[in-house]
Amino acid sequence: MDKKTDKKKLTLERKSSFDSMDAPWHKASFDFAERYRNFLDLNRTERECVAAFAKMAVEHDFVEYIPDETKLGAPGYIFIGKGKAIALYRPGKKPAKEGVNLVIAHIDSPRLDLKVNPLLENADFAMLKTHYYGGIRKYQWLSRPLAIHGVIILADGTELNLRIGSDPADPVFIISDLEPHLSHKAQNGKKVNEFYPGEKLNLIAGIIPDEDEDAKERVKLAVLAYLNEKYGMTEEDFVSAELEVVPAEKSRDVGFDRAILGGYGHDDRVCSFMGVRALLEAGTPEKGALAIAVDKEEIGSAGASGADSVFVMNVLAEILALEGNAADIAVRRAAERTNVISADVAAGLHPDWQEVQEKNNAAKLGHGITLTKYTGARGKGGANDANAEFMFRLRKLWNEAGIPWQTGMLGKVDEGGGGTVAKFLAYHGMNVVDSGPPLLGMHAPMELVAKSDIYAGYLAYKAVFEKLL
Ligand code: MN
Ligand code: MN
Repeated sequence: MDKKTDKKKLTLERKSSFDSMDAPWHKASFDFAERYRNFLDLNRTERECVAAFAKMAVEHDFVEYIPDETKLGAPGYIFIGKGKAIALYRPGKKPAKEGVNLVIAHIDSPRLDLKVNPLLENADFAMLKTHYYGGIRKYQWLSRPLAIHGVIILADGTELNLRIGSDPADPVFIISDLEPHLSHKAQNGKKVNEFYPGEKLNLIAGIIPDEDEDAKERVKLAVLAYLNEKYGMTEEDFVSAELEVVPAEKSRDVGFDRAILGGYGHDDRVCSFMGVRALLEAGTPEKGALAIAVDKEEIGSAGASGADSVFVMNVLAEILALEGNAADIAVRRAAERTNVISADVAAGLHPDWQEVQEKNNAAKLGHGITLTKYTGARGKGGANDANAEFMFRLRKLWNEAGIPWQTGMLGKVDEGGGGTVAKFLAYHGMNVVDSGPPLLGMHAPMELVAKSDIYAGYLAYKAVFEKLL
């Protein structure tokens, strides 16, 4: 080997996957993105994602796990938590007590929730009041078509699944922004997070008054009469409901080359979809393979369906029970021998806002799946900070499998920050690292992701299930 070649190998070179991968690979990436698009456009809430993943698993002959009843022998098992978290387990050649390979992502996305008592009348408008969920930039939700998806339990116990606004034939709901002509004093000059107060994030829900001229709040009454006729509900039924306000638009190809998919909720339906598809399509794994989708990441992973709950460890204990030994110490040991991909999107380098990133460590769209050693804020506050040994194993695995990957960070030091579910798994002694595709406009109603990065991520997670020991 001549000296020149040797020196070339010294430098870390990160190529766009459009230079490193061939045309058939990119054709496959566009095809994979279509499968993802269908899932994304249909499933906009945690419950909808859980139902969709369970259906996919059943199509692969997975069975729903019932404690003390389900026996070994099925191709895979489905565990559902409160209807809003799901775990899919595929037994490997080795028992789960030797640890499993886990890809965990979240299926909640930033949005607006209807308040518990949402309906009111104001200036002859029926309005629905909302409470924002997760880190939204309020102005992005103004004057755009919104849909309502969710569940209502009626007084007699009937469970209604609602989806209004996603079908082009449906009406939509709008938070109407102020016109520029009248915003001089009310909005202009205010800080971006203050110019539209949270209590003004109200949906317009109707203007026709009820025909009873003696009634009070006739427009609100007309909406209630409509809801009663259509769904059999009364105003009190909103109390036993979870109704989420989400963008009504479907995803779209972005750019002349169509290489980017714009859509709502990539964070983190993209990683959960990649993880579930990878699990279902991987060959028989050496280690047990586990794909989990959890709720509540966007508000700190709290709640019984979030990653900071017993859901994950209970699933692991049930798997060990299925195998015949769920002693506490066996479950703890299995956790310590478990590898985890905290599958979560990264912040991609924005061409017009490069100053918020440190370019030597920023992930780029189209450059492959991101491996993120740590997230957090300020001095890595709240980060998992993956250990060097685990970083090595993934780097080796993905290099050997020829998967486009890159490293990424959450922006410049002291620029901002954020967290993922990583630290909640690491608490149990699991090896954990963050990994997902880079996005532009994270948490916006229309987030951008490169189709090639979705495919790279699917292949990367599949390699974890098939080959990581
Ligand atoms: Mn995320
Ligand atoms: Mn997020």
